[in-house]
Amino acid sequence: MSGSGPILITGAAGFIGSNLTDRLVANGQEVVAVDSFDDYYDAAIKHANLTRALSSGGVRLLVMDASEPTSFTDVLRRVEPAAVVHLAARPGVRASFEQPELYVRSNVLGTLRVLQGCRDAGVQELIVASSSSVYGDAYGIAGEERTPLRPLSPYGATKVAAEALCSSFALTYGISVTALRLFTVYGPRQRPDMAIHKFTAAIEAGREITLFGDGTTERDYTNVQDIVDGMIAALRADTQGFHAYNLGGGQPVALSNLVSLIEQGLGREARIRFLPRQEGDPDRTAADISLARDKLGYSPRVGIEEGVGEFVAWYRMQQGRQTKTEVAA
Ligand code: NAD
Repeated sequence: MSGSGPILITGAAGFIGSNLTDRLVANGQEVVAVDSFDDYYDAAIKHANLTRALSSGGVRLLVMDASEPTSFTDVLRRVEPAAVVHLAARPGVRASFEQPELYVRSNVLGTLRVLQGCRDAGVQELIVASSSSVYGDAYGIAGEERTPLRPLSPYGATKVAAEALCSSFALTYGISVTALRLFTVYGPRQRPDMAIHKFTAAIEAGREITLFGDGTTERDYTNVQDIVDGMIAALRADTQGFHAYNLGGGQPVALSNLVSLIEQGLGREARIRFLPRQEGDPDRTAADISLARDKLGYSPRVGIEEGVGEFVAWYRMQQGRQTKTEVAA
């Protein structure tokens, strides 16, 4: 990061964005948080995600659509950020089969707008959230320089297209762009549609959970604090041109083992219904993180047992707060 201005984060009120915002603020870094509070999940959750950071005084919140070209470029010109971290996107692999156009608009056109804004406002450094979904079924450990990009879902395809645009802007306009391919991120504030959050809520409430497949599919779950470490390392790295790095936990976990860990954390048994595998779901995701380790010093610290325990504790604390608010009302 060359300049001394604030870091501008798009999608800052979301799961990963708010965790990154908190850490940067704790490090004394000024942050400009941009979010449109889209309808993918309850906007009240996203407002709550930013409460602590906003009360610290180190964050300015701009409620706006980062893919609206003129106003976003104006914001970049006014803010003069040292770097932009672009996390705003339509997430969710399965939902992308229902509304592929929406995913293309949000994730491809949205990234193009951010790139154009950076070019026109003279922002030199951009970090972009990509995804393990760019690999599809890698049938092994996915490495940035050897595994072909063969996404299975429209969501994965939008991330490949977004990376291609990033590469072209880096090469043509001299912006330094780092795409971080995130592998299934979990931790406090995880999106309510994601497996760990959904399973925890259902098991706690005594509801049945649905597992697609026979429980042997594996995911390389990555704790959000490790992802934040990787993003900050990418911000600090002195890079030129376009680079893509895997950020994974480095230890794939079978779905049935994940459910067991949640059961242990909650002290409750799951009622499980098995359904056939879903389209777009790879058998296994596994990240080769050696490039990120070499170039960024990335080294995940939070193991899945510790991380799931922490998530369950956070979930219960949230529920307790909500119940208190409901009683008070
Ligand atoms: P999230 O939905 O919690 O956060 C995304 C935020 O972006 C939301 O608050 C949303 O309101 C905002 N947003 C969407 N479009 C916008 C726009 N045009 N302008 C301004 N704000 C906008 O999702 P997340 O899980 O925190 O994901 C963040 C990023 O990481 C996304 O790019 C996602 O594709 C990527 N990613 C996430 C995971 C994961 O496991 N969570 C894995 C791989 C990649």
